[in-house]
Amino acid sequence: MNELLAAYRYTSNNHAQIEASKVCGCCNCVELFKPEDIVGWTGLTVQNMDDPKAIRQQTAMCPRCGSEAVLGDGCGFAINANFLARMNEAWFQRTMIHRPAQKKP
Ligand SMILES: [Zn+2]
Repeated sequence: MNELLAAYRYTSNNHAQIEASKVCGCCNCVELFKPEDIVGWTGLTVQNMDDPKAIRQQTAMCPRCGSEAVLGDGCGFAINANFLARMNEAWFQRTMIHRPAQKKP
């Protein structure tokens, strides 16, 4: 599998993997940061906020730009500026994969 495509899967439901990471990066703003810098997570609701499985499947939000496009090196890829730039080019400039914008509640 194309490594960018493989890495893209790790930008969602990635709480456990980011906890296991030493460095994280954002495919949208191409910034590097530490896992502990991440303060925003999505995926929990009032119904599942106490569910350990749901907690592990939360999706990280970038502490710099708020995008759900965070990768940690715990996913097995070396997270560095070059790799993030390639991810950014693949998904945010050419939009190989385009997901519809989430509706605001
Ligand atoms: Zn970002």
